[in-house]
Amino acid sequence: MASKSIEELPGVGPATADKLREAGFNDVMAIAVASPQMLAEAAELGQSSAQKIILAARVEADVGGFETGDTILERRKSIGRLTSGSKSLNELLGGGFETQAITELYGEFGSGKTQIAHQLAVNVTRPADEGGLEGETLWIDTETTFRPSRVKQMATALELDPDKILKTIHVARAFNSHHQMLLIEKAMEEAEKFPIKLLVVDSMTGHFRAEYIGRGALAERQQLLNRHMHDLLRFGDVHNAAICVTNQVQAKPDAFFGDPTRPIGGHIVGHTATFRIYLRKSKGGKRIARLTDSPNLPEGEAVFIVTEEGIKD
Ligand code: ADP
Ligand code: MG
Repeated sequence: MASKSIEELPGVGPATADKLREAGFNDVMAIAVASPQMLAEAAELGQSSAQKIILAARVEADVGGFETGDTILERRKSIGRLTSGSKSLNELLGGGFETQAITELYGEFGSGKTQIAHQLAVNVTRPADEGGLEGETLWIDTETTFRPSRVKQMATALELDPDKILKTIHVARAFNSHHQMLLIEKAMEEAEKFPIKLLVVDSMTGHFRAEYIGRGALAERQQLLNRHMHDLLRFGDVHNAAICVTNQVQAKPDAFFGDPTRPIGGHIVGHTATFRIYLRKSKGGKRIARLTDSPNLPEGEAVFIVTEEGIKD
C-alpha cells in the first residue's frame, strides 16, 4: 500500500488535506477508492479537481487495474471464517461468516438477528482453531439492542472471561442515518488502535427506513444505502474483517413495501451484500436460516436454536 501522505498528491494543498482528513480520507488508499462526488463533497472541490486527485491516488496506491485470477486467488487465501456457534448455519455459509464480505441477516422482529450478532462478537475473540479470528468487534447500534449481559452469558458458556470479552466490543450508538454513515469513518480510526475483525451494523436499514419515507425519497435513500454498504465493504477489505448487518422485514404487509418478507433496501442492499440470510422463527424455539443469495454457494436452509448459552444447533 502507498506510504505517501495525502498532501503529496498533486492538487491537495494543506487546506484540502485538512478537509479530507476531517471527512475520514486519511490515506492515499481511501482517496483512491472514493468516487469523485464523495471527494468533491468532502473537500469542497469541483468534480474535475476531485477526479484528478483520485486518478493520482490510484496510480500511487496501485489500484484500479485488472488482476489475473491467480492474484485474486492469492488474496482470497487470507479470507477468514468466523463461527456462528451453529454448525449447520456455518455449513450454509461455506464454513462461517467470511471476512472481506458483507453478510446480511434479514427477518422479522425476534427472528434472532441481534442474537447472532452478539454470538459473533464473542466468538471473534477466539483463536482460529476454535472458529474465531483473534480479533475485536466494532458495533454500530441503531436500535439500542446491544446487551452486555447477553455477551456475558454467551462468554461464560464458552468458559471465557466475560469482563475481558466486553472490553473487546466497541459500541457506538447511531442517532440517525447520517450519523450512522459518519461512524464508518470513526470505525476506520478505531481499527488503527484495535485489531478489529468484526463490524456489526444492527440495524443497517432502520434509520433509513424511518427517515426516507414514500416514493419520492426512495432514490436518495437507495443511493445513500449503496454508499454506506460500499464503505462497509471497504472496511472489510482493508482490515480483513467480517461484516454483519441486519435488516428487519415487517411481519404485516406494508402499504408501500408490499411483500412482508421483502427486506428493506431491495436490490441495492441485495446486490452489495455478499451473503443474504433470511431468518424465521419455527416451532419449539427453533430458527430457520435460508441462504437466499451468495456468489458461490447453493441456496439452502439451516436450523439452529437460540438458548441461554447462545446460538446452538
Ligand atoms: P431480532 O431479529 O429482532 O434482532 P433477536 O435477535 O433480538 O431478534 O431475538 C430475540 C429472541 O432471542 C427472543 O425472542 C428470544 O427467543 C431469544 N433470546 C433472547 N435472549 C435470550 C436468552 N437469554 N435465552 C434464550 N433465548 C433468548
Ligand atoms: Mg434486533
